[in-house]
Amino acid sequence: MTASSQSEAHRVWSTRDLLDWIEQHLAAREVDEPLLVARWLMAHAIGTDPIHLYTDLDRPASADERATLRALVERASAHEPVQYLLGEAGFLGRMFEVGPGVLVPRTATETLVQHVLTWHRGLDADTRPDPLHIADIGTGSGCIGLTLAMHIPAALVVGVDCDDVAVSMARGNCERHELGDRVSILQGDLCDVLEAPVHVLVSNPPYIDDAHWNKLKPNVREFEPSIALRGGVDGLDVIRRLISQASQHVLPGGLFVLETDDHHASTTRDLLEATGEFDNCRVLRDEFGDDRFVTADRRGQVVRPDGSICNA
Ligand code: GLN
Repeated sequence: MTASSQSEAHRVWSTRDLLDWIEQHLAAREVDEPLLVARWLMAHAIGTDPIHLYTDLDRPASADERATLRALVERASAHEPVQYLLGEAGFLGRMFEVGPGVLVPRTATETLVQHVLTWHRGLDADTRPDPLHIADIGTGSGCIGLTLAMHIPAALVVGVDCDDVAVSMARGNCERHELGDRVSILQGDLCDVLEAPVHVLVSNPPYIDDAHWNKLKPNVREFEPSIALRGGVDGLDVIRRLISQASQHVLPGGLFVLETDDHHASTTRDLLEATGEFDNCRVLRDEFGDDRFVTADRRGQVVRPDGSICNA
């Protein structure tokens, strides 16, 4: 062993040194947000949270922690999403288990949840349903349906996914947040497994078209489940099927909200309008100002709890 490799072997690696090394390593491999990822991985490897790293930057890492970090950094360098490495992701302030097989929750999707919450708050006290039946189609990790259940105590939620991994992860998240009494996760194809129409039908379906698929960043294209992302040649395969089922599954006066993107939003709105079953079909933007959601109210009459009828 040479003198220099000997001193290298005995070198003390502090949190500060490791953060610098990881950041540079990831930046050289063009990983997005290298410092942010470095903080997450470092905090995960030493069992703390990113903010607390900075209270003790001189802390020496143990050999085990360094080995854990090396393995994580290697995977992150190959562009694997950091949320898969950590095994969880935040969504509207709550943590959800995620991993290969389910989409990493997106910030834009938080706006979809907020839209439903705003709609619910705006309902007339006379017609506000209790229980409020919600279906989240293509639930993945379950983050949309579970977050709605957390914020609406009257909600009874069904999350549906066709994929085994997603179903078991969504069920795990349901347990993690102790929502098993109000949320059920079912396996099936789109709305087929719904036993009764719902007040709110939400979905973040696959909508990436073939032309855009190759332009996606490697962390998405190579690691996230293509079944949850790809919507066929024009991106509308699943959206078309969902729209054709929607009127049958949304109660009069109920809400339908779909996530899509700016390439598909106006076509999606037109498809929904063409069913003749929905009013107020419109495109909403996400917090980045991009067209992102299509929403509409199911046409028809609402029967109030006292038996009187009003037009939705
Ligand atoms: N918004 C996601 C992305 O850009 C796509 C999500 C979806 O297809 N439902 O990667």
